[in-house]
Amino acid sequence: MTVEQRLADVRGRMAEAATRSGRTPDSVHLVGVSKGHAPEVIVEAIEAGLRDIGENRVQEAAAKIPAIRAAASNPANWHLVGHLQTNKARAALELFDTIQSVDSVRLAERVSSIATRTVPIFLEVQFARTPDRFGFDPDAVDAAVEEIQRMPNIEVSGLMTVAPLGLDEEGTRRVFRTLRERRDRLQEANPDLASLDLSMGMTDDYPIAIEEGATVIRIGRAIFAG
Ligand SMILES: *Cc1c(COP(=O)(O)O)cnc(C)c1O
Repeated sequence: MTVEQRLADVRGRMAEAATRSGRTPDSVHLVGVSKGHAPEVIVEAIEAGLRDIGENRVQEAAAKIPAIRAAASNPANWHLVGHLQTNKARAALELFDTIQSVDSVRLAERVSSIATRTVPIFLEVQFARTPDRFGFDPDAVDAAVEEIQRMPNIEVSGLMTVAPLGLDEEGTRRVFRTLRERRDRLQEANPDLASLDLSMGMTDDYPIAIEEGATVIRIGRAIFAG
């Protein structure tokens, strides 16, 4: 299958999941995660209509994005979806439009202090309690949003999560539902906050995420692999 066919396949399944849960297909946005893939393949996806692209490492993105910008006939919106070290924040802001993986108040402070535009960010929430995973404890999210939304040059656009490995379908669904409930509560408690996106769902679980309210899904393998 070509990248174009894979993309069409994903879009079809997205629309089915949205319709199944009583939502309109255009209420879910697709970010194609292109880590590990060559610029030519990513350009192919852009030419096939992909507009939002995610990478998880600043260094890899820095090596690929200029070639992609030069070759593609349309600009893409770039999303950082992986852990960002504070000392790479400046480089990240030059490459990425949106930082989906803000995982500490300290990182948000750093982004806020060096940004020269309003940067949309997502707070990454961590449901797996293993030391190799980054993100806010679910119970710490409300206070973090409260603090970060007051920082200049930052717009809290949503919450993001990667479901823990090894959960069955019910467990995964529960994680996504919990994030949605957190978002709903935050929204209720902070009427000033713009409507928050929910970035959840990857190749193995995006239909479930959409059923549970995802507004952004991040898909790598289903678009780029193979
Ligand atoms: C790689 C990655 C994805 C995409 O994963 P697939 O399983 O290939 O769809 C999504 N989000 C993050 C944070 C990633 O690192």
